[in-house]
Amino acid sequence: MNYTNSPIEQINFNNQKYFIKRDDLLHKDFSGNKARKFYYFLKNDFLNIKKVISFGSAQSNAMYSLAVLCKIKAWKFDYYVDHIASYLKENPVGNYKYAKEFGMNIIEDKVPNKFEEEELFISEGGAIKEASFGIEILANEIKTWAKENQIKNLKVFLPSGTGTTALYLQKFLPFEVITCSCVGDDEYLQKQFLELEKNNFPTIIKKDKKYHFGKLYKEFYEIHKELLNQTKIEFDLLYDSLGWICLDKYVQNLQNRDFEILYIHQGGLLGNISMEERYSFKFNKKEEKRLC
Ligand SMILES: *Cc1c(COP(=O)(O)O)cnc(C)c1O
Repeated sequence: MNYTNSPIEQINFNNQKYFIKRDDLLHKDFSGNKARKFYYFLKNDFLNIKKVISFGSAQSNAMYSLAVLCKIKAWKFDYYVDHIASYLKENPVGNYKYAKEFGMNIIEDKVPNKFEEEELFISEGGAIKEASFGIEILANEIKTWAKENQIKNLKVFLPSGTGTTALYLQKFLPFEVITCSCVGDDEYLQKQFLELEKNNFPTIIKKDKKYHFGKLYKEFYEIHKELLNQTKIEFDLLYDSLGWICLDKYVQNLQNRDFEILYIHQGGLLGNISMEERYSFKFNKKEEKRLC
């Protein structure tokens, strides 16, 4: 099992041609952005480590992927959250459900500030230097593909949370990396870049509107369904919907396009299960009533 070398496919969306790096297909259990970021821990030996400790939200993709990593490595996994919604406890779904099945010990409390020697602490969302190890491999896969296909003028697009992935991709790629901020605003993203590197930052494209991470937006649901319809690929509702809104607008505004675009599909599809429930409850309710 190598957990690398995802395929690249060509699609059309709104009459534009894109290539998609299918990191959502890396592996059945361990895929997407967090599989790349945590690859360092998967590949190396940590003879002293017995337990991983992390924190974040009870629905996070990082939480799920850490649970899988710990299962593979036979490590214990303590995950700290502020709060678990009671409906989630009663009806476990998505990342929460599967992380628990992989053996996560979830704790509603503050993260401890002191750790034992055999405990490995991983900060929220995997915004860590070690992430560069797996992202360099991703960059090398892209370089090899571009060379084999004689693509010289390429731009790589991916939506950002902490920006760790976009930043390291820019570090290892000879192509421009373009991103948009999905979690904080553009200033937050700039700051995140500065935490990890001094220069050579990805290009951040501006949004028309302010969005709050995790909130429901009709246009997110609509572009998600439109993408599925036109490309037959399921994208994530938290990052990709906003990513595609930004990228589609960026491309439509170009006078003439003289480069190819590679979109990185960063997985996260387990998180869609609960998001779909929330969306269909919010936006289909009225239509159902009208039909009755
Ligand atoms: C974590 C994640 C991101 C954001 O990655 P960053 O490196 O934090 O910018 C984007 N998409 C998906 C599906 C993710 O799980």
